[in-house]
Amino acid sequence: MHIDLIIEDARIWTGDPDRPAASRIGVWNGVVIGLDEQLEGMSASLVLRAQGAFIAPGFNDVHSHSVWFGQTLLELDLSGTASGAELLQRVSAYARGKAAEDWVIASNFNPLGIAGGLPTRDELDDAAGGRPLWLKNSSGHAYTLNGVGLRALGIDDYPTARIDGGKVVTDSQGRATGLIEENAMALVQAHHLPDSRPDIVRALGAATRRYVAEGLTSVTDAGIGGGWIGHSPQEFGAYQLAREQGELLTRMQPMVTIDALHDVAGHASDEPAATLDAGIRTGVGDEWLQIGPAKVFTDGSLLGSTAAMTEDYEQCPGNHGYLLGDPGELREKAMRAASAGWSLALHAIGDQAVDFAIETLAEAQARYGEPRIPNRIEHGGVVRDEQVPLLARHRIVLVPQPFFIAAFGDGMAEKIGHRRTELSYPAARLLHHGALLPGSSDRPVAPGAPLGVMQSFVERLTESGRIYGEAERISAEQALVAYTRGSAEATGWSHRKGVLAAGMLADLVVLSDDPRTVPSERISKIEVVATFVGGEARHGGL
Ligand SMILES: [Zn+2]
Repeated sequence: MHIDLIIEDARIWTGDPDRPAASRIGVWNGVVIGLDEQLEGMSASLVLRAQGAFIAPGFNDVHSHSVWFGQTLLELDLSGTASGAELLQRVSAYARGKAAEDWVIASNFNPLGIAGGLPTRDELDDAAGGRPLWLKNSSGHAYTLNGVGLRALGIDDYPTARIDGGKVVTDSQGRATGLIEENAMALVQAHHLPDSRPDIVRALGAATRRYVAEGLTSVTDAGIGGGWIGHSPQEFGAYQLAREQGELLTRMQPMVTIDALHDVAGHASDEPAATLDAGIRTGVGDEWLQIGPAKVFTDGSLLGSTAAMTEDYEQCPGNHGYLLGDPGELREKAMRAASAGWSLALHAIGDQAVDFAIETLAEAQARYGEPRIPNRIEHGGVVRDEQVPLLARHRIVLVPQPFFIAAFGDGMAEKIGHRRTELSYPAARLLHHGALLPGSSDRPVAPGAPLGVMQSFVERLTESGRIYGEAERISAEQALVAYTRGSAEATGWSHRKGVLAAGMLADLVVLSDDPRTVPSERISKIEVVATFVGGEARHGGL
């Protein structure tokens, strides 16, 4: 038999417990045809020698905001800007490449890092060549606009309107400086959405090019089509366009935000259902692009002290966060989606929100059965011991982000106190109780290179080097399983993905070293030599 590709002389970790190691792998029609002696007598159009490189199943990030992340890659990156003059110069050089009416958008703007005072809005007007300018402050809690940008949003030079929980900042004369804080940021977002289909396609191209460079072959987008994280009501159509135009380099499973679902009529015997028109729901699509679960926010954030806890935040007596909206209404919304056949992904960070999510998902499963793509709880900032066996019993997937610990663990520890860090973003307890553990990043909220996230699974060290919940550390092999087989099971694809065996999709990553044998602090430094999706090299090569 003649097949497409044989890779030989490799150290292959298959992820398959029945056959964990191999040195040769054969690919035909995008699928693994066999390993080692199963390739006896076969020839291939292309034979690659890996020279002892380490090969694993492709990585799978089950919670990453791909359009949002791709957009940040296309914007001007202002990291490291040290003076007002440098800021003006960088904005001006970037703006020159834009059409006269285009917005100039930049991210990673850190005003605290600018020595000698910030440029004025008028200086920023000049630098942007009369174009509207939008700087996204790195705190995530403010934007900085120029005068043209303020006027484009319809904000008066001397604004008088008050905004609940936010501010259009003014100087001593009452003139808007361009600084837009907290809830006032919605004025800017509302002006820019929805994004155009070509813009979404460009963002997906940029995001997935980065993904394959980091060994990712499958990604779940954690919310499209509506709500504050969606980019357009036509976002799935834009995903389809990206695929048709060859801009989707990884397999994608976007979740649809529940805000995009609405009541859709059916037969009198059908239960009331909230879904997309024509009854389209979770599962539509194929191995390249498939509609995932409906995404529901049940609480806020840990660093903002708004995630719903059963105990108060440290040094904040009386504040234990809150559920987003009336629990009865949230539950009813979720049931109507489940009744239409949607799997559910409930964002729940505080343990009170996790209680609510477990109850809601258990009820949905009791009423409508267990969905083929599992129900999930996103994040798990605090998960009490007695909640873990419930997750396992109901086969609910908890999706933790261990890199939050490396990115902002010190701040989280301050919010919940040392004791609760032992309950935060669990991993070892999930495995101990037989629950699933997938790999995920929540990119671009935190960095998302999979080898970096795996290192955080193993180390659980904060940005200052403190240990955060030591008992939840897992081994590098368990982290590798999470990012491959765990993610495949969590997204309903364990029959085609997550291990390298005959009949599975030929998604694999070639690494310069074995994450299981290097010192843990070296895991993130391992080089991604090549990434194959469906048997084709989408990054690097051998
Ligand atoms: Zn997210």
